[in-house]
Amino acid sequence: MTDHSKLLNIFSKQRENQYRIAGSDADERIAKLKKLRQFLLDHIDEACDATRRDFGKPEAETIIGELLVLVSEISYAIKNLKKWMRPERQSVPLTMIGTSSYIQYEPKGCVLIIAPWNYPIALALKPLVSAISAGCVAIIKPSEMTPNASAFVRKVVENLFTANEVAVIEGDADTSTELLKLPFNHIFFTGSPGVGKIVMKAAAENLTSVTLELGGKSPSIVDETADILETAKRIVWAKFFNNGQTCIAPDYVLVQDSVAEKLVAEMKNVIATTYKSSGNGIEKSASYARIVNEKHFSRLSELLNEATRQGAVISEGGKSNAAERYISPTILTSVTNGMRIMQEEIFGPILPVVIFKNVSEAIEHVNAGEKPLALYIHSKSASATDRILASTSSGNALVNEVLTQFGNTEIPFGGVNNSGIGKSNGFYGFKEFSNAKGVMKRRFGTMKFLYPPYSERLVSLLKKGLRWV
Ligand code: NAD
Repeated sequence: MTDHSKLLNIFSKQRENQYRIAGSDADERIAKLKKLRQFLLDHIDEACDATRRDFGKPEAETIIGELLVLVSEISYAIKNLKKWMRPERQSVPLTMIGTSSYIQYEPKGCVLIIAPWNYPIALALKPLVSAISAGCVAIIKPSEMTPNASAFVRKVVENLFTANEVAVIEGDADTSTELLKLPFNHIFFTGSPGVGKIVMKAAAENLTSVTLELGGKSPSIVDETADILETAKRIVWAKFFNNGQTCIAPDYVLVQDSVAEKLVAEMKNVIATTYKSSGNGIEKSASYARIVNEKHFSRLSELLNEATRQGAVISEGGKSNAAERYISPTILTSVTNGMRIMQEEIFGPILPVVIFKNVSEAIEHVNAGEKPLALYIHSKSASATDRILASTSSGNALVNEVLTQFGNTEIPFGGVNNSGIGKSNGFYGFKEFSNAKGVMKRRFGTMKFLYPPYSERLVSLLKKGLRWV
């Protein structure tokens, strides 16, 4: 069988099977989720080993960024699924007297999950948790850039599901392109805004709904009232976790002029104590991952070189080792908006610091760009915080906190426009894979008086009645 016919074969088998899976009750879906959770708990070391081999991800970062998030999502779904699946009774509008209505979340059917490489296990399997909860059948296309994690995802799925329910199809953009031609009922894509546009165009051909979890530049605003030491610790952790290859990492810092110098000095101290604690230097630190591949290593090196050629100053780091795909935690000051590093998503361990004079200027800076996936505010001033929240738009906004929105099952996670369409996490993920079917049942009465022929009396009654609706 050619790769293409294998793919078609899996898709048509899933199509045949979709209504059987859709008919599963909450207990059956919960049983699948429990098995998935148990499998992950039994293979923690294997998961950590896969991501370590792919790009030197520290064991703790695989546990925090992939497994903890994933297992919490599963446990939350297990706890709440019965409630989510129950018909949601609605009140009866005046004009609909005699009917009852409710919302029933029904599975969308055959879904495609396309995952990126930076959290290759969580971002392939977390949408699957929502798909299973909703009662869908799914094909997962992991990223080709992290082959070990991709093999791990395949192993998880093949151990727990038959291919007519969940299948993993490995491959690169060509495989994705083939998959995108198929009339899936929903596509859940996580990746860059550029590829997100390709996915949305392809989906339009089949009028397939999409969830696009994208990226972009997420600013971290620090005003003069912030606790600078705590802020420095938070930003350094969030930026250099996974070597800066996190969609919600603070892409750059926007800091008020009066505290800028202090913040940079504190971040330098934090970097020194965090990664050099073993005494062997950052390069040898087991807590610091690597850039995923040579293409991204050269992209980042070029961004840095272009910035310094144009006058940016390396206040910290800037050291690299191509053979190891290593770039040390780097802080850049004196950056200007014209530099490529301030226009493109950085997605690596380089942190530009931009200075603002007052909160209005920071707001203007944010609003001049695309709507971010995450906006971080570090401030003790309630009025400044509220003003920033009210005057900007972003997928998520965190105050004196970083990164953890991804693991908060109670709030929707996702972007807005260029940073994403649709949401994930907990109930929001379940809804993404479901059609909210509005059901109405007439109990008594009739709407026959509205049917033609339309008498003058009816028209006059309607005109008067409009005021009471
Ligand atoms: P990417 O867009 O290059 O690739 C994502 C997936 O799309 C991969 O599986 C890849 O094989 C596939 N793909 C690549 N080119 C394609 C094409 N032309 N047609 C169809 N499919 C194609 O993204 P990436 O480099 O893997 O990940 C980094 C990006 O993802 C960053 O922009 C980051 O911000 C974003 N991201 C977003 C989230 C989120 O939850 N919002 C999470 C992680 C990463």
